[in-house]
Amino acid sequence: MEADAETFCGRTGGSMRELSIYIHIPFCVRKCLYCDFLSGPACEEEMKNYVNLLLREIKEQSILYGDHRVVSIFLGGGTPSLLPAQETGWILGQIRDGFSVSEDAEITIECNPGTAMAEKFAYYITCGINRLSIGLQSTDDGELERIGRIHSYGDFLNTYEMAREAGFRNINVDLMAGLPGQSLASYRKTLERVTALSPEHISAYSLILEEGTQLYVNRGSYTFPGEEEDREMYELTGRCLGKAGFHRYEISNYAREGWECRHNKVYWRRGDYVGFGLGASSMVRNVRWKNPEAQAAYAACVEKMEEGMKERGLCGMSFVEMLRRTGRCEVQALTPQEQMEEFMFLGLRLTEGVDSEEFRMHFGETVGEVYGKQIESFEKQGLLEREGRRIRLTPRGIDVSNVIFAAFLF
Ligand code: SF4
Repeated sequence: MEADAETFCGRTGGSMRELSIYIHIPFCVRKCLYCDFLSGPACEEEMKNYVNLLLREIKEQSILYGDHRVVSIFLGGGTPSLLPAQETGWILGQIRDGFSVSEDAEITIECNPGTAMAEKFAYYITCGINRLSIGLQSTDDGELERIGRIHSYGDFLNTYEMAREAGFRNINVDLMAGLPGQSLASYRKTLERVTALSPEHISAYSLILEEGTQLYVNRGSYTFPGEEEDREMYELTGRCLGKAGFHRYEISNYAREGWECRHNKVYWRRGDYVGFGLGASSMVRNVRWKNPEAQAAYAACVEKMEEGMKERGLCGMSFVEMLRRTGRCEVQALTPQEQMEEFMFLGLRLTEGVDSEEFRMHFGETVGEVYGKQIESFEKQGLLEREGRRIRLTPRGIDVSNVIFAAFLF
């Protein structure tokens, strides 16, 4: 069903759809040298003002999703663990007031070592937060310093221990390969040290040198691992984590059986999700949009939403029109072709691949009718394989996934 055809006021009834919620907290102690995310330092007052805006946005938006049941919430950033504990509680309280949150919803908060202590972790647990994602990146203090992280490996160990003691049974650790000055041996050590701690989930991404970051500007003064070493690190990740009992379920994500991140799987499976906060992205019923990235434009967007709701002036308007009128950016009702493209290139990121029957049910055509040529060619090259209804990347296909994804674009 396409949302553009629907008006948005009132509750629609019928069966409940699943919804995931992302909350963007754009604050960090200081900017890491490689970071191009929407984040930066802020004082307590700025944080408080921002949280107030967030609460208003969540309240006004909740009326649109009466027919949805929230299955996951992700507080990301930035460094959400920088927020005073009570403010985190207010945000979750506002969500629970306005949305129907499933009792077993996965609720994650991102945390950087040193930004939360035992008391805050205990409070998170009482708020229903049941998953912690800790940004470690490396266990080598020299590597951490070179990329401008605020913490040492020791700080991470303290944070990890406090989180376990507070009762977190589901912890992700973020790692990075390809860091300046990183060797294969130091990366192996990082993998071994982290797997020895037995987290439930590990995300392992390669550093991308983004234009405009400090690391990019000063790239001449660093030594980065070469292409061959980069490749070896990538292969080492799979081998080392596999040996330690983690299975790769997405190109860069590994979990113990049953501990995959439900929230992220919603993105790859094209489920409905709504993002609150500065620059947050959303996709609901095949309509994508973003919140403004500038604070003033975001505040204006929240105000327009409130006014519209108060005067009921937005009622009767299509969903897309309402999003545009209230200052959302990049509002796009996806065409069936765009939906098919996303179905393929997002679904193929998962090691389980895409379900050809689901494709047929969604689009009324078989995946063979639409993408037969590409699939056949990649199968012959040993890059894609079929098993029953599923089509997925082979290990060799994962190595060249970007080329494969590009072939599914019309
Ligand atoms: S902690 Fe994360 S979001 Fe914050 S500056 Fe560092 S990389 Fe960016």
